[in-house]
Amino acid sequence: MLNITNQKLLKAIAAESVRMTHYTSISETLRDKWIRAIAKGTAMLEGDTTFMHWDRTNKTLLFWSDGSNEIYTIGKECQCKAFANGVPCYHRAMRRLVEQYYDRLEKFSRVSQPSRAAKKEAALV
Ligand SMILES: [Zn+2]
Repeated sequence: MLNITNQKLLKAIAAESVRMTHYTSISETLRDKWIRAIAKGTAMLEGDTTFMHWDRTNKTLLFWSDGSNEIYTIGKECQCKAFANGVPCYHRAMRRLVEQYYDRLEKFSRVSQPSRAAKKEAALV
């Protein structure tokens, strides 16, 4: 199960991902498909994440699809029909959103931890 508690952060990452599609040299059609994939991926992450698991080490997302009754291991590639047909799938969009989400959370927690030097300084005051 994924634990996406910071919905504001998820939405910010989704908006940024949509914005980034405009800075890549892809066709309009492909861009539209990626935007739809990002939107669906975001909606999925806002819903029930019981059957999703983030493998931090391998940077893969495990996802049980109730539509196909398959378990996908989503990395740079996906096992779904859309990916096999060269179409952007929401699984890969979702994987990227999850990766970005946990990377940012980790960064925030590092920034909010006072450094050793700051603690020493505070002790001297
Ligand atoms: Zn897929």
